[in-house]
Amino acid sequence: MRFAIGDATVDIIVDDDDFTLPLTGYFPDRDVGLIERHRGVLEPDYLDLAGNLAKFAIQSFVLRIGGRTLLIDSCIGEQKNIPDIPSWHQRRDSGFLDRLRRAGVDPAGIDLVFCTHLHVDHVGWNTRRENDRWEPTFPNARYLFGRRELADWMTQYHAGSALPIHARALEQSVIPIVEAGRVDLVDDGFELGPGLRLVPLPGHTNGQMGLMVDHAGERAIFCGDAVHNPLQIFQPRLSTSTCVDQNVAADTRMKIFAEAADSGRLVVPAHFRGSRCACVRARGSGFEPVFSCRPK
Ligand SMILES: [Zn+2]
Repeated sequence: MRFAIGDATVDIIVDDDDFTLPLTGYFPDRDVGLIERHRGVLEPDYLDLAGNLAKFAIQSFVLRIGGRTLLIDSCIGEQKNIPDIPSWHQRRDSGFLDRLRRAGVDPAGIDLVFCTHLHVDHVGWNTRRENDRWEPTFPNARYLFGRRELADWMTQYHAGSALPIHARALEQSVIPIVEAGRVDLVDDGFELGPGLRLVPLPGHTNGQMGLMVDHAGERAIFCGDAVHNPLQIFQPRLSTSTCVDQNVAADTRMKIFAEAADSGRLVVPAHFRGSRCACVRARGSGFEPVFSCRPK
């Protein structure tokens, strides 16, 4: 799957297209009446109401722009200890790197890896198991981690307050990259190149950042987990039970949607199935997704 932003291309490399969480537990404040009204849009790709499931993809975006190749979020990976999520625990033969190659991208050809935040489903392919060590999967890449995001997680890790699923992700997929000297710490406003700027998207985690692309008259934002499901376009203040600050996450989401509705910017969250991304149109006091749009 591929879309264009001007003469730049974005390939969507899916690591898991069938990840579900209980709808009632993950979105406890959802508006049931609103979901019913938009059921025809949200089912079957994004919700399964009979099964009480919210449905997600875990996917990377490979942006080829200005002669460079950037991988945004690195999914789950293989051979990782993730006992909290059985289908991700010690996985093998996921086919992720084959799908990357079929898109015309060799792992050695990735110049930059940008993790929007350091959760288990955004850092996994940073490393792969070789000779009993976690080695960088992308041998020629610099890895961009948010300075605040990494500091926040390392503080929790050393204090012993990070949940085991987060601590293991740090040990297997983040700390080995730091120790290999492959990380560039980046701050809000950092410019990766012309028209490529990192913006703060706090709330899901404290230090999450997104990538704003303004290229050849077209616009997109890779916004990680600031948005999880198109349901949140209809109900923009709906945060998930895993967001570290649900109010801040809601404010971040409102800002993204308001700007996108104004500017025609394509919104590219980490976990949309179906269309994988959406434009956003203002409607009444809220918004609605436009799945058939092109970036503007
Ligand atoms: Zn995620």
